[in-house]
Formats: sequence, C-alpha cells, structure tokens
Amino acid sequence: MTDPKVKSVTGTMRALGHGNRKILIVEDEKNIVEAVKYNLDKEGFRTLTADDGVKGMELARQELPDVILLDWMLPELDGLEVCRLLKQAEETRHIPIIMLTVKSEETDKVLGLEMGADDYVTKPFSPRELVARIRVAIRRASASSKAEVFQIDELRVDWSKYLVTVKGKAAELTSKEFELLRILIEANGRALSRKALLEKVWGYKNPRELQTRTVDFHISQLRKKLDEVANRILTLKKTGYRFVIDE
Ligand code: CA
Repeated sequence: MTDPKVKSVTGTMRALGHGNRKILIVEDEKNIVEAVKYNLDKEGFRTLTADDGVKGMELARQELPDVILLDWMLPELDGLEVCRLLKQAEETRHIPIIMLTVKSEETDKVLGLEMGADDYVTKPFSPRELVARIRVAIRRASASSKAEVFQIDELRVDWSKYLVTVKGKAAELTSKEFELLRILIEANGRALSRKALLEKVWGYKNPRELQTRTVDFHISQLRKKLDEVANRILTLKKTGYRFVIDE
C-alpha cells in the first residue's frame, strides 16, 4: 500500500550530462585560473573567467552561469561582497557559489554561510575534488529548481524553497543537513553507507575511514532538528543510515 501522504521524489533523480554547463571562475591568481579552467574544460564544462570582483559580478549577471567559483580575496570587490550581492538579487540568487579560500577557520566559514555561499574549497585543492563539488552543486540546484514537496508524518520538505518543517514549525537546517536529508529521502527506503553519503553529500572521492565521523555528526544534528520525525532515520550497524518511508 502506498501512503497517499508520501510523494515520490524519484523524479528529481536524473543523470547529469554537464556538456553545456557554464562555470564562472572569479579568481585573480592566474595559475589557479589556468589549472581550474584546464580541468573543467577537460571535463566538458564551459568556462568563463573574471580576475576581479566587479568583472565577476558583471559576468554573473550577464551569463547566469550554472555554478560560480568565487575567490575570497579579490581586487575591486572581495568575494564575500560579491557573494552577498549575487545572493540578494532575484535573478542570480539561485546560482550555487563555491568559495575558493585559503582561510579554513570556522569563523570564516560561518561568515561565508551568512553571505549565502553554498560550499567551500580550501586552497590548495585537487581538481578532482573541485569537479566533484561542482557536480554536487549542480545536482542540488537542479533538484531544488523543481517545485516539489515531500511529506510524511509531521515532516514537510519544500525542495524548491529549501524549507523543512516539523509540525508546521521551521527546522533550521544547514545546507549540508538539507542535502543529507534529501539524499536519504531520495534513496526511497534503501540504506546508504557512510561512504556513499560522503560522496553524494560532500562530493568526496574515496573518503577515508576517519571522515565517516563527519556523517555521524551531521546525522545527529539532523535528528535533533527533525524532532519527533528523527526516528525515521535508522542507524544500521556497520552499514550506514536509512530513511524509513514505507511503514
Ligand atoms: Ca585572490
């Protein structure tokens, strides 16, 4: 029996050909621009580049790229300010922004999140990691652009608005917690290993054993915020996690 309250979300899963995806690189360090551009071109992305914040803003508005890679420290207008302005404007706010930064302190990350950045890559980064992060950002953006709502018990998720409510009250999820919930729900009752979650949610390739703690930590945060719906996320010993939707 299918619970009428449960809306299938499998429609949001689709293969990603990224042949025509446009990536804007806003970075003033020429060697980084060249390395990133080389790797993205090789992967079949289209690339645009800007070497200061003002040019970056202009290109973003004109070209409406699929993802923006945004350096933190930029001439003319710094990356945080560019991020803030793009996330304020109606026509550019949906574009995922991945900050490229040498700063890795937690306070900087919090500051970036407040400005609306979607993800971070700390320099020096591997091209493979960057490509994986870009894919995650594109997938998340394409999934959330479809107006769909998932509802079960007292949990309601509005994918397009990034809005999660439990008993009508907003659960303030971070972007990673939201993505984690989305991946779990989209698995349609199947179990996902910690490694699979690290790959899908964080974009890690071949995650190390230690990093699986990251998943456990985020799951525990997510459970707290889901309140009484938390028991739908099952921990499977030595396997991973499963979101129960069929009972
Ligand atoms: Ca710079």
